[in-house]
Amino acid sequence: MKFELAPLPYAYDALEPHIDARTMEIHHSKHHAAYTNNLNAALENSPLAGQSIQELMTSGFDTPAIRNNGGGFYNHNLFWEIMTPGGANQPEGDLAKAINDAFGSMEAFKDAFAKAATTRFGSGWAWLCVHKGGKVEVCSTPNQDNPLMPGSCGGFPILGIDVWEHAYYLHYQNRRPDYINAFFNVINWSIVGEKYNANK
Ligand code: MN
Repeated sequence: MKFELAPLPYAYDALEPHIDARTMEIHHSKHHAAYTNNLNAALENSPLAGQSIQELMTSGFDTPAIRNNGGGFYNHNLFWEIMTPGGANQPEGDLAKAINDAFGSMEAFKDAFAKAATTRFGSGWAWLCVHKGGKVEVCSTPNQDNPLMPGSCGGFPILGIDVWEHAYYLHYQNRRPDYINAFFNVINWSIVGEKYNANK
């Protein structure tokens, strides 16, 4: 069984003007496609072949190629999903309460998330994670790691931002903070809330 690159569930220009169509097209059809193909190649002769992507993330890896490309496959699937156009533009219900409990306010959460994304040196991701019991936390990981991986920052990722330069450089060049600010405009909080409820 091979992992497959799912079509983007909306048009490449659906997140304009915050994230431009050309960036989305290259990011999905080239970068995410490469992680998918390289993951399949790395699993060809591995005892880990046949695991689900989530099992693969949590069980550890026998090669760096499986870690890096498996993380790339998993992380981008989540990234496209939580940027789906439409839905709530603010956290609602239990997720809104958890964010307020953890950070004090939505603005304080945004500051913490933006700081994690801005200060991640080099390539990586910033995350909002939920722990069993419902507590939420912001953290960041290098490369294509994610909070599910053994020894990582922990919890289940319900929101993530890709801060690799390939995610923003065409439109924002070196202005990572502008890209991070723009990202808050395209989060589908209905989807993030569903993930919170399913994994708390
Ligand atoms: Mn990426």
